Amino acid sequence: MTVKSAAKSNHSPETTSGGKPKSSFFENVMLSFDEAAQFTSHPKGLLDQIKACNNVLYLQFPTKTSRGWEVIEAWRVEHSHHKLPAKGGIRFAPHTDQEEVCALAALMTFKCAIVDVPFGGAKGAIKIDRKNYTEEELERITRRYTAELIKRNCIGPAVDVPAPDYGTGPKEMAWIADTYHLMNQENIDALGCVTGKPVSQGGIDGRVEATGRGLFFGLREACSKADDMKKLGLEPGLEGKRVIVQGFGNVGYHAAKFCMEGGAIIVAIAEWNGGVYNPAGIDVNLLDQFRRETKGILGYPGAETVTDAMALLEMDCDILIPAALENQITKDNAPRIKARIVAEGANGPTTYAAEKILEKKGILMLPDMYLNAGGVTVSYFEWLKNLSHVSFGRMDRRYRDATYTNILKALETGTGKTFTDSERQAIAHGADEKTLVNSGLEDTMILSYNQMREEMRRDPRIPNLRMAAYVNAINKVAQAYLELGVFP
Ligand code: NAD
Repeated sequence: MTVKSAAKSNHSPETTSGGKPKSSFFENVMLSFDEAAQFTSHPKGLLDQIKACNNVLYLQFPTKTSRGWEVIEAWRVEHSHHKLPAKGGIRFAPHTDQEEVCALAALMTFKCAIVDVPFGGAKGAIKIDRKNYTEEELERITRRYTAELIKRNCIGPAVDVPAPDYGTGPKEMAWIADTYHLMNQENIDALGCVTGKPVSQGGIDGRVEATGRGLFFGLREACSKADDMKKLGLEPGLEGKRVIVQGFGNVGYHAAKFCMEGGAIIVAIAEWNGGVYNPAGIDVNLLDQFRRETKGILGYPGAETVTDAMALLEMDCDILIPAALENQITKDNAPRIKARIVAEGANGPTTYAAEKILEKKGILMLPDMYLNAGGVTVSYFEWLKNLSHVSFGRMDRRYRDATYTNILKALETGTGKTFTDSERQAIAHGADEKTLVNSGLEDTMILSYNQMREEMRRDPRIPNLRMAAYVNAINKVAQAYLELGVFP
């Protein structure tokens, strides 16, 4: 097992693991950072510190499987300690490597800054294909990984708080919370060591769908800007827009579902082994049901099956939502993308070079670090709930019910108007946890979108929303460092 501390990362980090070829994902993130840094006035040393991965942990630990003993590779990268705890998901992925985790951790720092969530960025990965392991084996691996993080003080409600990402979900988060709790029985805030837990295990209502719901709120806000839509040759509003989604997992499924409910037409969904296409629209709920029954989406009777998954990204549509993995839109397929809006659900789905091509084609890019920030936003709410030991709405819901009912009664007496039952139900109720979570998420996504637009208005040299997002994030992280007195 090795622990490596990296004070500084640059365009070509010398460390990779497992002999795998270097990923360019980290390089893409750093190229974007450097481009955006030109629109700020911070000294080089401060910018270097904002880029640097503060702590890189590389692990190799043993596990016993039905095939015998195996050595599992894993990472936890805390990109920035300018605010604590550090925060970021854990992925189970067969092709992950250190550069990928560093890139994802850096994106988390910028993402948290953009949506004003007071965390530093982090990310973790376990290099496995979960399809090759039984549930007991996955539990053993997850618990061992957690124990390794505990040994090195890389997890804890005040230190570093993981969450779900690609290949993980509430079940894995429950195993992490339980392991941490077992080894920290005196810590009354132990449940705040991880977010994305099942609601019965200290999770929060609305976290599972939060990233997809946040994406919908962000996309809807973008489509509401008549001037921007006019430039794309589109009508304002999400209604009637034709959408293609890549990846039908947590983010892709929920994004597709909320977009469909918001009036968009889901014309295609791509998975790793192919996809389904129907220009008249795919019912996302029926497709999900089919997937549960058959363990896949191919052959779904409500659409045509297409075996070339990547070809689906190039089909005619208004909005393309890549929600699977990084590096999916490259300089090779970017010239053939027909969408007018690319709404990034995944982290890093568009390479730096591809973005330049899409920009020339006049495509509106909604950047990952903003658009998929719904997950970390609701994770923040979950962490607050764990630290306060009470669910949102519990203290005042009934009080508000009574107050609003009394106001309605007074209005009825004063005006002679009688409210209908449905009016009464819409007005006279205190909000429950899910309502408050969704409202906080909606507010965050709308405010942050308008902050990015404002950034572009303030400095007309800023060419696009990704650069605006970076500038916004760099300025906020820089301010935190300056206020800490690190760079007087
Ligand atoms: P997931 O494991 O739930 O789903 C991923 C889906 O993509 C799976 O259905 C998988 O089969 C599919 N897939 C894999 N390779 C593919 C390919 N080449 N083409 C098409 N589909 C493919 O993962 P997720 O949580 O939905 O994460 C997806 C992306 O969103 C990742 O980049 C992740 O980092 C990012 N993200 C996730 C969250 C979250 O809260 N889960 C938050 C922010 C960002």
